[in-house]
Amino acid sequence: MTELREETPPEGFERLVRIEDPESGLRGFICIHSTACGPAAGGCRMWPYDSPEAARRDVLRLAEGMTHKNALADIGLGGGKAVIIGDPATDKSAALLRAFGRAVEALGGQYYTAEDVGISTDDMAQAAMETPYAVGLGSGRYASGDPSPFTAEGVFQCMKAGADEVFGTDELTGRRVLVQGLGHVGMALAGKLHAAGAKLIVSDLDRAVLDRAMRDLGATICPPDAIFDQEMDIFAPCALGGILTHDTADKLTARLVCGAANNQLASAGVAETLRAAGIRYLPDYVVNAGGIISIAGEIHRSDDWNREARLTTISRRIRDILATSRTSGKTTIAVANDMVDGILAKAANDARREREGLE
Ligand code: NAD
Repeated sequence: MTELREETPPEGFERLVRIEDPESGLRGFICIHSTACGPAAGGCRMWPYDSPEAARRDVLRLAEGMTHKNALADIGLGGGKAVIIGDPATDKSAALLRAFGRAVEALGGQYYTAEDVGISTDDMAQAAMETPYAVGLGSGRYASGDPSPFTAEGVFQCMKAGADEVFGTDELTGRRVLVQGLGHVGMALAGKLHAAGAKLIVSDLDRAVLDRAMRDLGATICPPDAIFDQEMDIFAPCALGGILTHDTADKLTARLVCGAANNQLASAGVAETLRAAGIRYLPDYVVNAGGIISIAGEIHRSDDWNREARLTTISRRIRDILATSRTSGKTTIAVANDMVDGILAKAANDARREREGLE
């Protein structure tokens, strides 16, 4: 039986639940950071965390990030996340995924789960046997399928908005763009950049994808440890988080950073280093929201969720963020965080007034 144990969440978080199913080996957490804008939504990550404390820290950080992402994407959803402790290559089983599905079901729709690192569409289908609150499915009436093409399109549109601000034109023809990570999102983004006439520099650990980019997209290859030695106009981090440190920010030749990777800034202070160096950083959680915008149609069970039209929300946000950053002197991430605070305060106020109106 899946057990749920409530833990006291830190201030500012709505709910933290420890989940366990001894039979299948399920151990993890579900965190609901905020339901101010709607039911919480965010993926489930499976990772061999060193300790339950490490998993707990991660779920809190990720759930809060989803509140930010979903608020600015304007999709009527709050922020939450789940983590499962274990190695997805060896510890995953149908029983474990179904036990996880039962834990999500027990929250009664307060939290919608989907794929994240270590969890595939097929895994979600197992969880969905126990709950309608598991989404990102490959088939079914409202199934939204692979979110990566939408994420890539959102990044591309934001990059054009950023180029407009930095270079005075959103044309990418002839711009040198370095794409780090040619996975689901990075390769799709590289294809769009090639079609737009950009000069591609690419980096990955996988030789096969590099060869493909060289052959099909005329890309130049850069070794993973030489990224910050390259001359480039735009840097698109599409691999892992933490790539921008004080040190790498100092070396970066790009004037614009716009990519899909989550948590690109190794620490909050790096935003100021980038700003001081005249580099515009487009906040990752705004830029990479295309995937959750696509999945939101499935959550809302909408027949007319116009994903393409909704995607334009994020490049409009980016234009607003850049304009406010320019006039206020604040970093782009500080401006984005202020916008989130405003949206959450308004949502809380609206809910209070509705309650009072009903009383
Ligand atoms: P993916 O696993 O398909 O691709 C990641 C790629 O990065 C792989 O090809 C890998 O070999 C490469 N890589 C890893 N370390 C590298 C390094 N040091 N140097 C160069 N390349 C390296 O992942 P994805 O789905 O394309 O997602 C990319 C990033 O975007 C992740 O950070 C993810 O969290 C984020 N993101 C993805 C989506 C989505 O819709 N898939 C949505 C939001 C955010």
